Amino acid sequence: MKNNNDYVTHNHDHYKDHRQRDLANRKYKDGADICIVGAGAAGGVLAYELSKAGFSVVVIEAGPFWNPQTDFASDELAAQSLAWQDTRLSTGKDALTFGHNNSGRGVGGGTVHFTGVFLRFHESDFKTKTIDGVGEDWPIEYQDLAPYYDKIERDIAVSGPKEFPWGSFHGPYPYPERNPISANSQVFRKGCDRLGIKSVVAPLAILSAPFDGRPPCISRGFCNQGCMPNSKFSTLIHHIPKAIGYGAEVLSDCMVTRIELDDQGKAKGVTFNHDGKEHFQKAKLVIVSAFAVETPRLLLNSTCSKFPQGLANSSGLVGRYLLTHTGHDIYAKFDDEVRLYKGTPVMALSQDFYETDRSRGFARGYTMNAHGGRPVSLAKNLAVSAGIWGSDLYEIMRDYNFYARITIVGEVLPDYNNFVTLSEEKDEYGIPRALASFSYGDNDNKMIAHGVAKANEILEAADGKAAFVIPDSAHLMGGCRMGRDPAASVVDEFCRSHDISNLYICDASAFVTSGGGNPTETVMAIAARTAQHIINSR
Ligand SMILES: Cc1cc2nc3c(=O)[nH]c(=O)nc-3n(C[C@H](O)[C@H](O)[C@H](O)COP(=O)(O)OP(=O)(O)OC[C@H]3O[C@@H](n4cnc5c(N)ncnc54)[C@H](O)[C@@H]3O)c2cc1C
Ligand code: SF4
Repeated sequence: MKNNNDYVTHNHDHYKDHRQRDLANRKYKDGADICIVGAGAAGGVLAYELSKAGFSVVVIEAGPFWNPQTDFASDELAAQSLAWQDTRLSTGKDALTFGHNNSGRGVGGGTVHFTGVFLRFHESDFKTKTIDGVGEDWPIEYQDLAPYYDKIERDIAVSGPKEFPWGSFHGPYPYPERNPISANSQVFRKGCDRLGIKSVVAPLAILSAPFDGRPPCISRGFCNQGCMPNSKFSTLIHHIPKAIGYGAEVLSDCMVTRIELDDQGKAKGVTFNHDGKEHFQKAKLVIVSAFAVETPRLLLNSTCSKFPQGLANSSGLVGRYLLTHTGHDIYAKFDDEVRLYKGTPVMALSQDFYETDRSRGFARGYTMNAHGGRPVSLAKNLAVSAGIWGSDLYEIMRDYNFYARITIVGEVLPDYNNFVTLSEEKDEYGIPRALASFSYGDNDNKMIAHGVAKANEILEAADGKAAFVIPDSAHLMGGCRMGRDPAASVVDEFCRSHDISNLYICDASAFVTSGGGNPTETVMAIAARTAQHIINSR
């Protein structure tokens, strides 16, 4: 396949040269066209597209500028540093667990330790209210994002099946599907085959052949620990280096604490903290891409006399309609070893239960991922989420090699009462810590019950014995949802805030509904569309 991008050499020096040493000499000290807060999935795409189009771009990132060769360890505990570890408070009937399971920290954001499952949303995801009478319609349709999905898949050489049976895109993917697949994925496909459920090798942002100076995956299975060989895509190794090549500046280890406005009520830049000192970055346009928790937190913390309730918050909806996916893990025990740690974690999936089928008793649906996993996280989840302790925990961990797992990624319906807000407690920057409240609704719980039963059927059809279920959630979204009505949404269809014309909010927080599949391709497609809109409006 032809690579449309410039060649970038992925070596140690490249990263070393772009770690920030002296903020006094930064490139755009006197002002930039665009300041992007957060260098994750959305921030990376925006930085690349906008700097390529000739804008002067500064990206300000709270975490470090990772070097895969020296900073990533094939070690579960060491990899915790890739996640946002600052304390976040949570409440609600189904309070969220924060840590490695939700957001990244550092250049690349969540893409550094994500699993790489790369899925498009379906047409129905954008109009659940019209089609199913639940949730809310997006102000955009699948067709608005389709060209950006195409572009991103090509740009990063997504590997996947020749034929994808569900949704509107049926393949082929730019790169061939991964082969061979892990034992856990083979078990999953065997169970599906025996029950007449369609399954495929997962589309992955992981290389199946060399691309852009990067090697194909060697199946060691440390994708959630940061991929040392650079076979897994992340904006750290793809979009950000290319953006720097086009002149963008990345200020890492810099925590943005406030967005500042001028006398006319327009954004004029951001205040950030580096090594305990406060700095200001002036810009003509500010884009917040700090993820579903930190984005609302930053907007709510940026109060001023004109906006005492926080920025972009005239609707009162900043932080509201927080979404996640039901991420329950279903385990079964087999007579033969499966070895869940082996290979890329997700190499097979099914979306046969994605669309609404009212005979199931609930609306919307889910993706089922054959999901490998590592022992430390299993032990922790068994103890913390499933309440399994002592000799029971010991027995399971002793037989770890014999378990297979399926994870549901199920659509959670938007609910005003699921939210992120500021707590009473402050962090070291003086910003109130985030407080998230989350509870599943009736529809969500019915979906979980269906997904768990279906996963057990598949595992049993593959000759396994149903063992245990670990309740979990995955992928945060929402909190600054897009819409046409300024009273019912925070940003418009191009992620521009309704209240402040030069303030954009572009990341997973702009989601209106969660969809029933992994979200990052949609985060990136929205970011590419927003970038194109900014370029067109120049
Ligand atoms: C373990 C795990 C596995 C996952 N697997 C998948 C998968 O297989 N497929 C999939 O589609 N999705 C997956 N995801 C989800 C994926 O990571 C997110 O959907 C995606 O990263 C969200 O993109 P974003 O741009 O909204 O935020 P992020 O990528 O999280 O980027 C936000 C960035 O902003 C920075 N930041 C935050 N606050 C500030 C501030 N005040 N100042 C400066 N910088 C700030 C953060 O440090 C971070 O780097 C996974 C997530 C996790 C945790
Ligand atoms: S399994 Fe492949 S993608 Fe995952 S960490 Fe190893 S080389 Fe990287």
